Parts: sequence; C-alpha cells; structure tokens
Amino acid sequence: MRKIFYLALFFSLISFAKGEVPPLTYQVTVENDLRSFAVSACFSGNLPAFLYANDAFGSFVRNVRLDTGDMLELDVDSVAIPQDNAARCIFYDVFLQPRNQGEQRGGAETRLIEDRNMLTSIGDWLVRPKPDAFYESFEIGFSVPEDIFVSTPWRRTGKTSFIGANTPISWEGIVALTNREPNVIDVAGSMFEVSILGDFGRTNQEDLVRWVTRSAQGVSGLMGFFPSPHVQVVVSPSDRGNAVVPWAYVTRGGGAGIHLFVNRDASVEQLLWDWSLPHEMSHFLFPHINTSDYWVIEGLPTYLQHLSMVESGAISATESWSRLYRGFVVGAKAGRGLTVAESVGRLSKRGTYRHIYWGGAAYFFGIDVELRRKSQGTLTLLDVLIKYYGCCYDAKRSIPGDQLLADLDSLLNDDLFIRRKNKEIIAEQFPNYMATFKALGIQFLGSNPVFDEDEQSGISSQIMKHSGSRH
Ligand SMILES: [Zn+2]
Repeated sequence: MRKIFYLALFFSLISFAKGEVPPLTYQVTVENDLRSFAVSACFSGNLPAFLYANDAFGSFVRNVRLDTGDMLELDVDSVAIPQDNAARCIFYDVFLQPRNQGEQRGGAETRLIEDRNMLTSIGDWLVRPKPDAFYESFEIGFSVPEDIFVSTPWRRTGKTSFIGANTPISWEGIVALTNREPNVIDVAGSMFEVSILGDFGRTNQEDLVRWVTRSAQGVSGLMGFFPSPHVQVVVSPSDRGNAVVPWAYVTRGGGAGIHLFVNRDASVEQLLWDWSLPHEMSHFLFPHINTSDYWVIEGLPTYLQHLSMVESGAISATESWSRLYRGFVVGAKAGRGLTVAESVGRLSKRGTYRHIYWGGAAYFFGIDVELRRKSQGTLTLLDVLIKYYGCCYDAKRSIPGDQLLADLDSLLNDDLFIRRKNKEIIAEQFPNYMATFKALGIQFLGSNPVFDEDEQSGISSQIMKHSGSRH
C-alpha cells in the first residue's frame, strides 16, 4: 500500500500544456550562502500595477528594476509598477536576514537551522500579483548549490521546479533550502513530501518518516482520502522544554504545509503517542476560515485527532476516550464562567485557549454523536465533511466560520450546526459533554471509560475504530 519515492524517481511531468504560456514565471538563483537570491519574474503580458509581499520584503530586498532598465521604489510590502512602458520582467536581489537565536513561536519565518538549512517565509522574498482569475498560478524554478534541495508547498514538476497556486497574499507558506533529500510518501493518493532539517538524538530519518506516514494514514482513513493532493511537511529539531512537539503550525499559502518542531531527544514511540501531527493534519479537513472563530478552527482538529490516532493504531480506543474526557474536564474549568464565544474574545489571556479548543471539540463531538444516533450509525460528521469536500471545499479561498456552519447545515437540510452553536457556544458556558457520553453509554471511573452493558447501538466503537476500511 505505502510507497516511498525518492525525488529522483518522482518527477511528475505535469506542467503547463505545450504551447500554453504561464502568466508568470519566476527564476530564483540561490547563492552558496543560502541567503542571497537573484529573482526574476517574467509576465506573459503587461506587468500588473502592483506586486505584493509581506512586511519583511522591504528590508530583505533591493535593486528592484524592470527589464527596460528602470529602477523601482519599494514600499514596505509592495512594489508599484509604472504602467507606461513595455516591460515584461522585474528583477531584484534578496539578502535574507535569518533568525538563528531563540526558538520559533509564531507562523512562517526566515530562520537558519544548523548551518545548511534555510527556512524562509515565502512572503519575505517573493513578490506576487493579487490572485485573480488570470493570476491563478505561476511557474517557478530554482537554481541552487549542488548539495541543496528545495521544499515548497507548490506542486513539484522537477527537482527544482514547481507550479505554484497563487493563494491570497496574506496566507503564509514556507520554502526550505535543505542539504537533505526530501522523502515522498504516497498515502491514499496524496503525496506527503517530508523534509527533515538538522539532526536528532534518538530518531533517524526513517523513524521520522514512519511517524509522518502513520499520522497521514490515520487522518486519511477518516474520510478515505486526504483533502489535498500534495502536502509539504517540514520537521526541525527543538531544544525547548520537555514537550515531544513543542511547537507546530500549518500553512496554506501555495498549498498544504505543516511545520513541526520536534524535541531533539524524542523517541519514535513518544512521537507516535503524541497528538500534535494528527491535529495539524486534521486542520485541512476544513478550508481556511477568515474570521476569529477559533473554537471552529481548533475544535474540529482537537476532536478528530482522537479518531485518527485510533484509526492508525497509535493509541487504543480506551486511551482515546480517556484523553477526550480529561480534555473536556480541563477545558470546561478553564472557562471560569465565560461562554466559549466570550473566551474567543479574550484569547490572549493565559489558559483560555483550552476552553476554546476543548469547547469546540465537545461541540463537534456532540454533533457527531447526534448524527450517528439519529441515523443508527449511517450518517457521521465525517460523511458531512466528505459531502462538503465534494461540493464546496476551495483550497484557495477563505470563508467565514458561520458560512461554513451554514453550508454544512444546508448539506444536511437541517439547522444542526447553527442551532448547537447558539446553545453550546454562545448561550451556555461549555457544551454538555457528559450528556453526549451518557447518550453513548459511556461513564468514567476516574478518567477510565466504563461502557454500559446494555448499550447495543455500537456507536461508541464505531467512533473510535481501528480499521483502515472506515469507508
Ligand atoms: Zn490547531
């Protein structure tokens, strides 16, 4: 079932059709120091009036000029192009100023990892037109030192060439220049390209790839497939604290990306037991949400990470029920009298995030159980997500959280998602997870699940199922 390809064997030949000119082609020449780039961006017609990047661009980039020889002024995060000339290309020089101290805590950033791995936030150095019907994608090729490989969220067409989806400018993404060949894993038809930056104490590359594979199998097993055809996975070592995965985040700029900081001394057993990677992968079962509905954004992965870890065999069903229960107990207490919706507005306060993550998880848990009970197990939350994927999921656009819930309701021809939101997230302090457990016939002794003997429906064992043939 599982195939591991090495890059040399895996050059997809898909490109722009012969004769079809891409609207925009980049060429990036990377110097041996991995921080000096020369970039050219050539357009099939007139240049757009503005090109955009993020706010580090202005300090990392200089010598911006057109192929007509005209020099251009840089704004902090954009370049205005004079429209009265015949230019087709823009050229510029990049000199990255990577961080190499402390540990990363936020999203994508430009950072040097152990001398020969340069992690870059794409918006720090790549200037792009706003995505529209014409600029939906671009071609990009790299010229790199001999020992260097390129990891991107874009669709690979060769060792150093890609077709990039022109996603919204504000969406972050990573390009990593690394001295180790990425591992490509095919899980249920999706390609996970794993780049491992730096060295680890107790795990080797194979262990880390095994961990990614198992997690991907678990999450893909939920819907029968992974909702992105290619996924960039970047693993960096961390020396911060004792957590197995001290920090991880997803990016959607250019495609699905996951960046994980793994404790340098973690063992593969500890990694498989850890929830972080199944959680991050589960984020992609929903599209990008552009409102601050963190209870939706984080609630769904926090619930589904438990199902996927049982699916992959990483943890038992009993362990999974215990984790859910303990999480709900901690999450409910963390609210200190607030509703989940109120907590979202106070996110910066310490501890509140548990109320939001677990409150959202309890909401999706309640919905899943209600759907399964009403249908005698024939309709699940995952079935609704599969339907949504088929009709409505757009990996290049953001939607408001309420729009997503309304769309899910209209697929069900019901008001389930909005009705339960109004009650459990807005009116009450925390979803009544004990009622959901009771409906499933599960009680807890300490944090150990005890299953009612007369519980005949089998719904609880359907939820926490290790199968590989869920659909
Ligand atoms: Zn998350």
